Amino acid sequence: MKTDPPTLRAWDKAHFWHPFTQMRDWTAPGHDPLVIVSGEGATLTDAEGHTYLDGNASIWTNVHGHRHPAIDEAIREQLDRIAHCSALGFTNEPAIHLAKELATLGAPGGLSKVFFSDDGSTAIECACKMALQYWQHAGAPQRRVLIAFDGAYHGDTAGAASLGGIGTFHERFRRWGYECLHLASADDLDRLDAGTRQSIAAAIIEPLIQGAAGMRLWPAGTLRRLREWCDATGAFLIADEVMTGFGRTGTLFACEKEGVWPDLLCLAKGLTSGYLPLAATLATERLYEAFLGEYGELRTFFYGHSYCGNPLGCAAALANLRVFRDEDILASLPPRIEALAWYLRAELSPLPQVGEIRQCGLIAGIDLLNPTTGFPFPWQEQTGARVCLAARRHGLLTRPIGDTLVLMPPLCISQEQIASAVTALRHAIAETCPA
Ligand SMILES: *Cc1c(COP(=O)(O)O)cnc(C)c1O
Repeated sequence: MKTDPPTLRAWDKAHFWHPFTQMRDWTAPGHDPLVIVSGEGATLTDAEGHTYLDGNASIWTNVHGHRHPAIDEAIREQLDRIAHCSALGFTNEPAIHLAKELATLGAPGGLSKVFFSDDGSTAIECACKMALQYWQHAGAPQRRVLIAFDGAYHGDTAGAASLGGIGTFHERFRRWGYECLHLASADDLDRLDAGTRQSIAAAIIEPLIQGAAGMRLWPAGTLRRLREWCDATGAFLIADEVMTGFGRTGTLFACEKEGVWPDLLCLAKGLTSGYLPLAATLATERLYEAFLGEYGELRTFFYGHSYCGNPLGCAAALANLRVFRDEDILASLPPRIEALAWYLRAELSPLPQVGEIRQCGLIAGIDLLNPTTGFPFPWQEQTGARVCLAARRHGLLTRPIGDTLVLMPPLCISQEQIASAVTALRHAIAETCPA
């Protein structure tokens, strides 16, 4: 059954409520939603047959490109056995293998236990609840506060959102969340009094770079300082590597860059190479053991989702890790990262409409400025969104964060494709905000 694109668009506008989208603009007569029908490597193709570079890796998820043969094959093979069965009361082969492989990756940090959930937000909820329940079991229930940072983004479920530090997204629902202490920077840690220090269950951070804040880089050493502060005060460290995990920053995990291991590690987006919704929260033996006891002691972690350990997702994740090994992906990244830096510097830095450019591995954030005033554009004008719309005409799809343009391509992107992506942004900027 093939439906023609205009009909698809009409039905979309009639029934599909899109995420983070002002639906009045979306459904306006002048807006023709792009209908993506296929993908290949770092590209996406729409219903009219136009091909684009996937400039934000399908909202930061895709790692090895679309339709990677090894991942496609792994999912097909699993599909011939079973798509889903419950992890409540049963177990399954792909989930067991994946738990073992993730625990092997986490072994240097003592992260030997793996709890599966569905997406970044649930991986975060799981980590927070593990930390909070741990302290109840450990006879220190006064440790019930979570430290999070301004600009943080940890997901949209109520608990994860309460850790968030982006006003537009998070302020409205703040009261329904965790008890949370929001800090501006690692310097604030040293200002906490002894009573506050003893109330902290865990601190959570996006290592090296805050994504949704606009690709904001932490000062070097921030993660290490937070680790040391947690060690000194007894609080757990939760690393949210939902965006940074799986090679995005140049190493498999961003934490490696500062030689830090967290007590709880949250993985999602790239875990299945962007194929299927699957998440994992890795925990230490010490955390896990605090949940052991007689059933009647109620130490059980009463938490879970219907699709925990979903076999199809786990098969995709196993294939993702296999591709990292078989194709030596991490070794292939430095030239691509350098190419991205080179093109950003050569093509975008000189533009009067461009302010700061930040890069971490294959992640880049490019701030737009009003060339006349040298200040940001009024946010209501949605300049970033208009630049990204213009970039489509030059073969690039990406989504900005306010007036910060984002480039975060799949790791498989070629140097030529990196050049075209940056050139597309240059044209789009020039057309949208003439100097
Ligand atoms: C995307 C993201 C999340 C939330 O993940 P979802 O899969 O969208 O729930 C959490 N933390 C970070 C750093 C993210 O980038």
